Amino acid sequence: MDKLNNSNLTFKKLYEPNLIEKKWQTKWSKDNLYKTKDSENQEKFYALSMFPYPSGNLHMGHVRNYVITDVIARYQKLKGKDVLHPMGWDAFGLPAENAAIERGINPALWTKDNILHMKSQLKVLGLSVDWEKEFATCNEDYYKWTQFLFLELFKSGLVYKKKSEVNWDPIDKTVLANEQVDSEGKSWRSGAIVEKKLLNQWYLKITNYADELLDDLKNLTGWPERVRTMQENWIGKSIGATIKFNLKNNDEINLNVFTTRIDTLFGVTYIAVSPNHQVTNIIKNQKLKDKICYLRKIIKKNDKEKEKIGFNTGLKAINPINNKEIPIWVASYVLDDYGTGAVMGVPAHDQRDFEFAQNYKIDIRKVITKDIKDLNFHDRNAFEENGFLINSDNYDGISNYEAKKKFIDIAKNEGWGEEKIQYKLRDWLISRQRYWGCPIPIINCSKCGPIPVEPRNLPVKLPREVKIDSNKINFLNQSNEWQNIKCPICGASSKRESDTMDTFMCSSWYFLRYPCAELNDRPFVKEKINKWLPVDQYVGGVEHAILHLLYARFLTKALKDNNLFDINEPFKKLLTQGMVQSAAYKNKNTGKYIPLNKIKDINNPIDPDDNSKLEILFEKMSKSKYNGIDPETVINKYGADTARMFILFKAPPEKDLEWGDSDVEGQFRFLSRVWKLYYEYINGLSSEKKNIQKDDKEKNLLRAMNIAIKEVSHDIENNQFNTAISELMKFYNTISQDFKYVSSNLKKIVLQNFCILLAPFSPHISEELFHLLGSEDSVHLQNWPKYDSKAIILNSYELVIQINGKVRDKINISKDTSEDIIKQKTLESPTVIKWIDNKKIRKIIIVKGKIINIVV
Ligand SMILES: [Zn+2]
Repeated sequence: MDKLNNSNLTFKKLYEPNLIEKKWQTKWSKDNLYKTKDSENQEKFYALSMFPYPSGNLHMGHVRNYVITDVIARYQKLKGKDVLHPMGWDAFGLPAENAAIERGINPALWTKDNILHMKSQLKVLGLSVDWEKEFATCNEDYYKWTQFLFLELFKSGLVYKKKSEVNWDPIDKTVLANEQVDSEGKSWRSGAIVEKKLLNQWYLKITNYADELLDDLKNLTGWPERVRTMQENWIGKSIGATIKFNLKNNDEINLNVFTTRIDTLFGVTYIAVSPNHQVTNIIKNQKLKDKICYLRKIIKKNDKEKEKIGFNTGLKAINPINNKEIPIWVASYVLDDYGTGAVMGVPAHDQRDFEFAQNYKIDIRKVITKDIKDLNFHDRNAFEENGFLINSDNYDGISNYEAKKKFIDIAKNEGWGEEKIQYKLRDWLISRQRYWGCPIPIINCSKCGPIPVEPRNLPVKLPREVKIDSNKINFLNQSNEWQNIKCPICGASSKRESDTMDTFMCSSWYFLRYPCAELNDRPFVKEKINKWLPVDQYVGGVEHAILHLLYARFLTKALKDNNLFDINEPFKKLLTQGMVQSAAYKNKNTGKYIPLNKIKDINNPIDPDDNSKLEILFEKMSKSKYNGIDPETVINKYGADTARMFILFKAPPEKDLEWGDSDVEGQFRFLSRVWKLYYEYINGLSSEKKNIQKDDKEKNLLRAMNIAIKEVSHDIENNQFNTAISELMKFYNTISQDFKYVSSNLKKIVLQNFCILLAPFSPHISEELFHLLGSEDSVHLQNWPKYDSKAIILNSYELVIQINGKVRDKINISKDTSEDIIKQKTLESPTVIKWIDNKKIRKIIIVKGKIINIVV
């Protein structure tokens, strides 16, 4: 490493971050300071931020995310670990494609420019990223391996093709993503009412792993509880039963129902079926047929919470437990694809059924209660809790747990039902009818069916020369030259698959690529994955708590089963950082947000258009609310170190953070005071002053230093960066009080350690000050200090001296001092001698460890 000549450093009196930050960033980069060593005998640490989508500009949410990861990575490096802290780009996707369509350019160009710009913005933050590991998912040498892994899944039978519904724009004649359909079910582009259309699409069988994904959640103890709960709910395992209801006067059709509440079987007062259920085919009445058509249209319209409407078909089903007749309704809330398209209605014990029954005056029959004497239903809501059975013939009085087991046994014996486990989790639809994505490596032959592309023929490249036409969204099936190909098996004219993959596929394995990013003949090497994975600390937004993390876990498990590595879970610890919010000014009446530059008096904000008083709300920064704060502006004004300190100090990392200019200034002032302390020391302005209590002052300072080492370490290890910075501030306060009384040798040790403790948070100023103290090596290559627990124990205390009940002096007394010595020391104090003034001492009272009172 090339050493810096300290004589070139001049110590400016004022802290000017602009003069030092750029300089160190260049030097770190030149020295390759953050290169992953990948050494054999060093303990590893893998620190990872969720990689950014190259939208064009870095925002405060990014800054918070990456600074948190950076503190952890820097700390682990100082602890002596071999740290992998990479960065890449989640670069395929719809926003790039839309932006490119608007500008009439290829999305690749737009994406490349954005990456360059955002990378330069990231560098200004002074992150300890190993940029040699960088990649973008839209690079051929990355998506080649996304395709390779798709083929691995294909090999193990986890890929299949199925007809399924898509959003279809009948004017533009194109498929729309869900995000392109507005809340009224209209196309964002043409305004047409979006239709549902059946298309052949590719799926991944994530449901094969439902149990494993669920069971292994309990091992993820380094994840936030709420994220584990969200995943659990998303998988949605329910243990229930299928029940066969016969139709009255019809032997051909059965109604199969899935329920998790077989214990409420005596409370069924109707059966609800989807308008597409086959039972609707036997309805002959024209009026009812019209109603069915109407309901079919309603459920097609959009995926939003459907209205709960329905009608009685006049048909009857037989309840198998007591042979009672129950009416069959068609209802809009019954889904075709969940279970069987038919559900049993138990209004007394299911809130949705309750609301439907109230609306249509259907019977409500109570069968579970806490009080078995209370037989009638008179509640305002469904009773969904556990209890005892009533109104259930011979089973009255048993608990509903018991009833579940009993009824399943009866159903099995009598042949009308069985136990069934069901999941909410659906297979992962990865087909996108879009251009800017990873092409699915499949050739469709009309004779041989879908044929996977040979791995040696990868990548299936995205054609660059496509016509950017705003009316045709899927460019790939417009390109005959690209699409037409001979079938590799029979040689017949075939077509390449024109769907691309969901971008979540690209991001579901990127963390496996970093340890081996330089390889071009394989996606990764088994030994390297076994060494570097799981990621020790993953940091990102809670908006990815479900899909991204679930897909990443699924892919890890599936590839492990293909023997590509031995890792079962990708992320050991997860931190989901809160949002960055700032003040937005909203007119309550119009609902509009007003930009700050239109508000005259910030203390009394008024809408200039209608003079109404504006509400001040702290909300997530966004363009539409005019409350975004550009990281570049803040960094230009105060420096990256101040921005980092503010973001880390203002709130615990998982909580939302409210932007406050005065707090940013507060952090700048703190760093300026630190600067001044070093300036005075180095320029001899804080030379040792004579003090009779020098030993005590030195002990006190050493104690403060050891406490700081202990607490800052503990807090960083527990992701409590805000309290870690508080500890540093306390340490600084003690230094500034006691500094002038201690030996210069101790001064230097204290200042060096302070630099190292500050380094993870404020990497630039700590590096500059460390060099100014005379070091030629980087502060970031030092060893994290260890604390001496003996130095922390307080062996002296402050004795308060009162004369006639009034406080006159305080002295430091060692804990083991006897009463006689305490008296002697007190009476030797010049202040005490002055106050006693030769009067006669009548009494001396000592409260040990606290006070001495002299009565004269
Ligand atoms: Zn063929």
